[in-house]
Amino acid sequence: MAPRHILHDLSVTEQRSFVDSFDTVISDCDGVIWLLVGWIPGTGDAINALKNAGKCVKFVSNNSFRTGEQYMEKFEHIGAVNVQDDDIVHPAKSIVRYLSYMNQPELRVYSLMSLEANEMLRKHNIEYESLQIKEHLTTATLVNYLAIERPVDAVLFDINLDMSYVELAKAIRHLQLNENCKLIAGGSDIIMPLAENLNVAGFYDFLQHISRYTNRKAIFLGKPAPILGDMLKEMFNIHTPQRCLFVGDMLVQDIQFGKMCGFQSLLVLSGSQTKDQMIAASPEAQPDYYADSLADFIQLFKNIQ
Ligand SMILES: [Mg+2]
Repeated sequence: MAPRHILHDLSVTEQRSFVDSFDTVISDCDGVIWLLVGWIPGTGDAINALKNAGKCVKFVSNNSFRTGEQYMEKFEHIGAVNVQDDDIVHPAKSIVRYLSYMNQPELRVYSLMSLEANEMLRKHNIEYESLQIKEHLTTATLVNYLAIERPVDAVLFDINLDMSYVELAKAIRHLQLNENCKLIAGGSDIIMPLAENLNVAGFYDFLQHISRYTNRKAIFLGKPAPILGDMLKEMFNIHTPQRCLFVGDMLVQDIQFGKMCGFQSLLVLSGSQTKDQMIAASPEAQPDYYADSLADFIQLFKNIQ
């Protein structure tokens, strides 16, 4: 069935049964709750309305370049009440969780992640090495930086706006020197929607660069990776996936991911993707529902009162 707009294509009775059909909402953040740079009107009220209707509302993002505190500040700014740090999952969190699954004593990692994500490693007492070099490099100083004193068990990759050539080169050295070293990747989207009408290249090709020189495939932990789906179900106690509604603004990272998890799916047009792109997608890639914005829930709840 073609995706249905939650306000325009559903009768009031259908809107009521739609709301009754899920207990949990898992929502993407950038492009749905806010923009990377900028805001989306009404999203805080929509989150509160969903919660007032008894829904459990959780968040998942492919962006770890905010600290937990910065996430909280944004939720506060939009007036969403009672959002807890544990309600939000982003790659640095799923990476820390995955490292705990490895169950390896004296685990040591090399991080290509942001300062904010590294802070998460520090909080969890994970021993990590990272390079943050601001000086001008020569071939001689490069050689020094690439020297490896101790091997690592994993190289961690995530969106990091400060990522540099020497950091990538060192990641490759680590992977080449230890064939058991894992390459674990969080955010590695192809495109990064930065602001309205400003889509820039994402970090995907940097990860490909590492893979190319090490012949190593990354273990993906961001959307749309299946491992993340299992983690979300475990963390949020989701036993009946079809009673969960996944909300996102991207067809691959969000809708494909939500469908693969067995969730219902809702595409909002407030972020990266247009209605034309949604309609042009193959039927399997299309969401169950769509809306102009998460804020459409405010009107929907008024309609079914
Ligand atoms: Mg998004």
